[in-house]
Amino acid sequence: MKKISIFGATGSIGRNTIDLIRRAPGAYDVVALSGGRNIEQLAADAREFRADVAVTAFPELLEDLRAALAGSDVEAAAGPQAIAEAANRPADWVMSAIVGAAGLVPGLEAVKQGATLALANKESLVCAGGLLLRTAKAHNARILPVDSEHSAIFQALIGEDMSEVERIIITASGGAFRDWPLDQLREATVAEASSHPNWDMGQRITIDSASMFNKALEVIEAKEFFGVSPSQIEVLVHPQSIVHALVGFRDGAVMSHLGAPDMRHAIGFALHWPERRDLPVERLDLAAIQQLSFATPDPARYPALGLAWDVMNRGGLTGAVFNGAKERVLDHFIAERIGFVDMARVVAQTLAWADGQAGLLDQTMTLEAVLHVDHLARQETDRVVAAGVA
Ligand code: NAD
Ligand code: MG
Repeated sequence: MKKISIFGATGSIGRNTIDLIRRAPGAYDVVALSGGRNIEQLAADAREFRADVAVTAFPELLEDLRAALAGSDVEAAAGPQAIAEAANRPADWVMSAIVGAAGLVPGLEAVKQGATLALANKESLVCAGGLLLRTAKAHNARILPVDSEHSAIFQALIGEDMSEVERIIITASGGAFRDWPLDQLREATVAEASSHPNWDMGQRITIDSASMFNKALEVIEAKEFFGVSPSQIEVLVHPQSIVHALVGFRDGAVMSHLGAPDMRHAIGFALHWPERRDLPVERLDLAAIQQLSFATPDPARYPALGLAWDVMNRGGLTGAVFNGAKERVLDHFIAERIGFVDMARVVAQTLAWADGQAGLLDQTMTLEAVLHVDHLARQETDRVVAAGVA
């Protein structure tokens, strides 16, 4: 039986992972499940799959979790340290589906014990790509991408030689405001930004899709994961979300991955790799879809996207600043302290501030340095917001 753990089990990616596990009774031995405030869900899943341990991110919820697990054999634990320890418990396959930089440490712990890491948590590659990849290599652990675009690129590269890759094209749906008049974007509400035209995802990534901060993270994720240069990555707006990514080769050939927008494909691919197995995803009917369209993203509509190249070209620990600042502006937008269009402006200011701090971005990428820079970036972002957005 394959031993697996799921971090962020109660979220959108976590639920989809559990759906696949549930369809294969007896195939998986669940070691650890983690969640946040949804104790009922976490406990129900932990009981159903007879997990060894269930962990909530919040220490104040430990007693609730214990109560919900009473009479079962599942151990209850709480807090970031407990999540890290659970990730270090031996497993063959670990799903990293916590949202935000909080996913970094569990991902590192999972590769340290040699597990195959199914990586949905793109933030860990953005803020500490070099560290995560180096740690995985040192422990002979494999990382498989779960982000749909990166799973698509990975699949288009099967049997290919990276030295023959000319470019990688990542598609973007364009998010909730793709067709809005530009001058209305400053009035966009949290509720409006939280509805995605094609994908059913967590609230944070859905808002990041509307601003294209999500695509900026994915561009950096692609550079880190596939080791290409920033100038080799392109983004295309593709409203139908059917073509997930394309890879162009030196001879002009382009290989692409198509499928209905359902994360169970990328999750299932990572779960069964290197095999392909049956997955309960809708089969593609191109005749019914009829048209696939593509456009260059408008920098005036998506100012966050261009920041990805600033981050990649600056290098060092800039990714940690970018991610930390992005997480905080999103908090501030959700709390209605800043407007939708302010998010990219504040992040750009925080990046400029960090670049001006002598030596800050050029330290060796250790976990401590990443966490320190992440902390400073959040602090500076809060300062900019408190001072009033220009
Ligand atoms: P979600 O908000 O639905 O779920 C997040 C999970 O993380 C929940 O289990 C929550 O309890 C947990 N969590 C939140 N804060 C935490 C913290 N501080 N410490 C520990 N656990 C915490 O998010 P999601 O949409 O499932 O996304 C998860 C990750 O997968 C993100 O990195 C996202 O970018 C990535 N991703 C998601 C999708 C998608 O379709 N949802 C697609 C591609 C990539
Ligand atoms: Mg994606």
